Amino acid sequence: MVGTVTTAGILELMDICGSARPDADRDPLKMAQLAGSLHTVANLEVIRFPFDVTVLGEALGCSIDTGTKARTPAITSHPFSDRPAELCIPSDLLSQGRIPVVLEAARLLKDREGKKVPIVAGVEGPGDLASYLCGIKPLMVYFIRKPDIAAQVINKCVDGCIRYSNECLSAGADAVVIADAFSSPDMIGPDIFRQILKPELIRLAENIDGHSILHICGRTDSIIPDMLECGFNAISIEDSVSDLGQIIDMAHAKNVAVAGNISTSQTLYSKSPEDVRNEAFNCLKAGIDILAPGCGIAPETPLKNLHAMVKARDEYFG
Ligand SMILES: [Zn+2]
Repeated sequence: MVGTVTTAGILELMDICGSARPDADRDPLKMAQLAGSLHTVANLEVIRFPFDVTVLGEALGCSIDTGTKARTPAITSHPFSDRPAELCIPSDLLSQGRIPVVLEAARLLKDREGKKVPIVAGVEGPGDLASYLCGIKPLMVYFIRKPDIAAQVINKCVDGCIRYSNECLSAGADAVVIADAFSSPDMIGPDIFRQILKPELIRLAENIDGHSILHICGRTDSIIPDMLECGFNAISIEDSVSDLGQIIDMAHAKNVAVAGNISTSQTLYSKSPEDVRNEAFNCLKAGIDILAPGCGIAPETPLKNLHAMVKARDEYFG
């Protein structure tokens, strides 16, 4: 299976399908149109929406730079940076911000491309959501000096992730991908991950009523066994891991699928289809379950490099 479980709003697709951001981030029809083009134009067999990972943060009160055609929405304020204990998930969460837009796009997609290929809703993970709400630096300080406060914030964020994820599944998504860059060993030490994030990711996976994927960015080697113990159906990893074959063997022994891990910042973004083919072959030889970009892809990524992923799979198994 070849597709994407990470963000993939690319400029060429926006031009071809007639739906560009920022509208495609805020209008359900436009969102479904651009996401659908990942299948109808890019030929991918797993399609992911929306095209950014700030929806929950925005719904919980963060201000947003809505971005431009080539610039992804970004968080610009952290409303709980000096009052983390006050964070609570409102009962009307699901009607806040762009959540209704994503849910409507899920319904539309389910009736269209979703009849042919799995549709995957992306949700920011608890670490990323906490970093939006509190700011990365204050959150880091809480993790180190006031771990009980950090744990409380992460716990509340997981409550929000559970409610939003299950609503995406009810609306028609076949799976949710929990994307958490903050959990990466590039951001926090594996010990902190194990103490605070991992138990909450386990609770998150347990409470998602459907298929779930855990994406953590960067060099995740040191926490792969922990990621596999969290209870998600699949993990999504980047190309910076050292031994993909070994990771896939470990995952399969635990009945967990692996998605990845073609380099997004290098190969897909700036190299040739031939380079994509070679990297795809390495993933396929290692036994990858979903051949996919390793992380969110840049808007300028050439469409021919997505086509090269599909062609490589066809050639490999042909
Ligand atoms: Zn990533």
